[in-house]
Amino acid sequence: MRPAILFPLFKPLSSLSGLGPKLARLAERLAGPHAVDLAWHLPSGLIDRRFAPAIADAPGGRIATLTVRVDSHVPPLNPRHPHKVRCTDGTGVLELVYFHVRGDWIQRQYPLGRTVVVSGKVEWFHDTLQMTHPDAVVPVEERDGIEAVEPVYPMTAGLPAKTLRKAVRGVLEELPDLPEWQDPAWLGRRAWPGWRDALCRAHNPEDEADLLPTTPPRQRLAYDELLANQLALALVRLQQSRLSGRAVAGTGALRDKVAAALPFALTASQQRALEEIYADMAAERRMLRLLQGDVGSGKTVVALMAMLNAVEAGHQAALMAPTEILARQHAETLAPLCWAAGVEIAVLTGREKGRARSRVLERAASGELPLVVGTHALFQEEVAFRDLALAVIDEQHRFGVHQRLQLSGKGRAVDVLVMTATPIPRTLTLTAYGDMDVSRLTEKPAGRKPVQTATVALDRLEEVVAGVHRKVAEGARVYWVCPLVDESEQLDLAAATERHAYLRASFGDRVGLVHGKMRGPDKDAVMAAFSEGALDVLVATTVIEVGVNVPEATVMVIEHAERFGLAQLHQLRGRVGRGEKASTCLLLFDPHLTETARQRLKTLRDTEDGFVIAEEDLRLRGAGEVLGTRQSGLPEFRLADLAVHGDLLAVARDDARLIVERDPDLRTPRGQALRTLLYLFERDAAAKTLRSG
Ligand code: ADP
Ligand code: MG
Repeated sequence: MRPAILFPLFKPLSSLSGLGPKLARLAERLAGPHAVDLAWHLPSGLIDRRFAPAIADAPGGRIATLTVRVDSHVPPLNPRHPHKVRCTDGTGVLELVYFHVRGDWIQRQYPLGRTVVVSGKVEWFHDTLQMTHPDAVVPVEERDGIEAVEPVYPMTAGLPAKTLRKAVRGVLEELPDLPEWQDPAWLGRRAWPGWRDALCRAHNPEDEADLLPTTPPRQRLAYDELLANQLALALVRLQQSRLSGRAVAGTGALRDKVAAALPFALTASQQRALEEIYADMAAERRMLRLLQGDVGSGKTVVALMAMLNAVEAGHQAALMAPTEILARQHAETLAPLCWAAGVEIAVLTGREKGRARSRVLERAASGELPLVVGTHALFQEEVAFRDLALAVIDEQHRFGVHQRLQLSGKGRAVDVLVMTATPIPRTLTLTAYGDMDVSRLTEKPAGRKPVQTATVALDRLEEVVAGVHRKVAEGARVYWVCPLVDESEQLDLAAATERHAYLRASFGDRVGLVHGKMRGPDKDAVMAAFSEGALDVLVATTVIEVGVNVPEATVMVIEHAERFGLAQLHQLRGRVGRGEKASTCLLLFDPHLTETARQRLKTLRDTEDGFVIAEEDLRLRGAGEVLGTRQSGLPEFRLADLAVHGDLLAVARDDARLIVERDPDLRTPRGQALRTLLYLFERDAAAKTLRSG
């Protein structure tokens, strides 16, 4: 349970003073649902009100704080004109300009002859200094009430800056005094402040330098977050290793048959990965291994061999893919190899219905069925295995950690192999998988040709179509990808449909269309037609993004490439260059490019190395956006920026490892404080793996 000392931090925003239900909702969308989320909402700028010149010395365009005497009021002649308050300080005239003034509020605010302190942006208008709608006004006796330096927060429309600032202030005033969870020696070495002090300082910048992510307070907060992340992963891992595993070692009989049936030899890195996997499976503890390999590096056959190892030993194995298309494709690629080995393989997705479905379920439960390929339908409760020994999860970044645990709960001591096709930068691997064992496929399978990548402005569409005609005449098969428009599937679809019609006018009925809204069987039919060569051009929304394998496809056209993330573009490009023939990728872009988009496309043109691309993606966009963290189950960080704090992550990992080794149940005083840290960063699930204490 969450410790009581944290309760004030987990109050809903609507309970904070100054935030009614409507504003609370806005603030919630901006920062998150709890008080603590406002504490994590750090300023991105500041307004310095310490600059207090005389009127005559005030430069236009700057924020200034002026002490002036109210001289006269100039009410507007008609309601569209502003009300002006003329003031002076003996060196010149300052006009305060107010639009839409109602009632006598302004007269009361500025009685004639009163000396006031006003702060805001000033501009010269002929020889009069003007300040339109001052940010702050106080009687001179209260000049301390105008904050010398004001933090500026990332904002959202409709939420007044002042309201947000006050709400954050309120949270900071009530910060509990939490026990120190960091190692004091480490804090001392880095000269980092305590937690509360760090937060208060991060929210009260004195100058621009205080806003940098490298200041001691911000580093300390980032490190707290990273440590919470790494400790949570270490604890979950510890719990898994406490679950007993079992030794699984096959005879090699089935694998030999498959190896003989393969039209190629395994690459050295495929062999190395398999040796690591076999060793894990043969060990008594549970395997939790990540197989990272760039697009087309041949992970599927590695998965098959690992699964056959389990089958040879008399157990069952399952392979889970993120989409229906992929699950079927895996089943189709694997089926002939399984036949060669005399092993049965079945598919289970949401689409299997009725008798076919119950047959698969029965035979999985009885143990008759050695291999099953499926989607997350495999997670469902009705699915039971008699003796599942290995779960392979393909394209992991689409699944969350808890799903991974769910599948491994389907059997006694299930080994788990997670495969990612998207190369993940080292730092992100660590945040998502912690200390998980990693195998990497570093070479592309033999015979691959590089993909020629070119960028073309969209207004040259006709030339592109002509080029595609030439390629098709030479026998090429072409993917034509239309992007997401406006985040709306409807419009998304409209764009693809329109492009399909346009290309049909020029290519006739050898153009197909596939998109996410299609019914499964229709999708499969189109994919099959393209794969068999009945279609030359396949117009697609991003449903083809992951894993689809048509080796004969050699041209990839991506419209509005600037709207895609780097990782996604890399994935898409990976759909071609899979066969023996040279391939081309055309990135069509809107000529009105942002600088970042331009750099992204350049990176893609310059390299095909997925790991280089991933690192570049991290640098250009920051960790939160790489891989679309929100949908991906990768952790999002509020305080740590991996592009800046990446080096701290490795330290946090070592720290977490040491903590779990010395104090696995977090019972020592520091351990108790670390429990608080886990709850503070909402790693409740990890905290719950702890025995009470
Ligand atoms: P990914 O890692 O993207 O999942 P796949 O497993 O789909 O890659 O493999 C892509 C293609 O490469 C498949 O057609 C597969 O048969 C082929 N392939 C796999 N391993 C090798 C190899 N060692 N030599 C040649 N081709 C291979
Ligand atoms: Mg794959």
